[in-house]
Amino acid sequence: RKNYIMAPGPTPVPADILLAGAKETIHHRTPQFLEIMKETLESAKYLFQTNSKIYTFVSSGTGAMEAAVTNLMNPGEKAIVVVAGKFGERWKEICDSYGIQVVEIAVEWGNAVSPEQIENVMKQHPDARVIFTTHSETSTGTVIDLKSIAQLTKDTDHVLVTDEVSGLLAEPLKMDEWGVDVVVSGSQKGIMMPPGLAFMALSEKAWKLVEKNQCPKYYFDLRYYDKNYPDNPWTPAVNMIYMLNQSIKMIKEEGIENVWERHRILGEATRNAMRALNLELFSKRPGNVVTAVKVPESIDGKKLVKIIRDKYGVTIAGGQGHLSGKIFRVAHLGYVSMFDTITAISALEFTLSELGYKIELGTGVRAAMETLKREG
Ligand code: PMP
Repeated sequence: RKNYIMAPGPTPVPADILLAGAKETIHHRTPQFLEIMKETLESAKYLFQTNSKIYTFVSSGTGAMEAAVTNLMNPGEKAIVVVAGKFGERWKEICDSYGIQVVEIAVEWGNAVSPEQIENVMKQHPDARVIFTTHSETSTGTVIDLKSIAQLTKDTDHVLVTDEVSGLLAEPLKMDEWGVDVVVSGSQKGIMMPPGLAFMALSEKAWKLVEKNQCPKYYFDLRYYDKNYPDNPWTPAVNMIYMLNQSIKMIKEEGIENVWERHRILGEATRNAMRALNLELFSKRPGNVVTAVKVPESIDGKKLVKIIRDKYGVTIAGGQGHLSGKIFRVAHLGYVSMFDTITAISALEFTLSELGYKIELGTGVRAAMETLKREG
């Protein structure tokens, strides 16, 4: 049976990227590898739309989140943290672990923080200089207005940090132009690689905090990564760097604007399919990474996710935390084409109808195809 990964990470990996990794592992302290590292990290700036250095860690995305907290914050200091889902919660949990005082902006899950909310909290807590946000909150399928939020911090001494683990390449991001200070991401989503690499980019303003930081840490201390850059302080994931190099080549070939646009169109097609099937979107500000959908009253959400995967080979995601069983999430992230989206919607229709939900087969597929024809 053929399998389709339509979950928001890990996402499908193109054969050319897998093959790029299937090469002999060379020693990392050699001129040959250093040359590859240099070229790869230089070209990775394109993904973030920045001129700042890109640091890589051998970890999942959470490692880069922890690196952001421990390199920017000292225990006892105040940080503003937006919590609107599981990954906002993660920022808070990491801060809590290091004794950082969290000023939480609690947003109802499925909603997006507004720039005004952030502005108010910035005024109330002038001693909180670092703001942690999640561009694409994967647990709720929601995107925030990062560009407007960056306007608030751009010409101030505030440092804006954003989790782009799922957002990178699916949601437009212009790190330097918008004035976003710190971006963290991971390999297994928009970058179309397997899990295992994490990324971080920092503005000069953010780097000033890193230089004088005193939070206890070792593996993720950015000063080690910067010292002999682009040489890695520890053993880098050599074969994953080969894969990253190939991924960036493919993204450059498609053009980042086209990559963003492809995600937007697939998101729009998926949302229209759900509406046509009389399904309600969970998010009030849906993004182009993943579409979160409320499970109809009459249906068992966990059963739906299981049937669509085990019987039809389409892996979608269920709800996380208190949303378990209440929503399902269909991704359109990374190496995904319109036919993957159409396939996922048709599998969803088969599954819904098997579970007794009344639909005319093809209703969602038709709405998606019409959107794709109009937009594409
Ligand atoms: N942040 C967001 C927005 C995510 O989607 C994820 C992964 N689902 C993470 C952080 C955590 O990344 P990882 O699982 O790679 O540690």
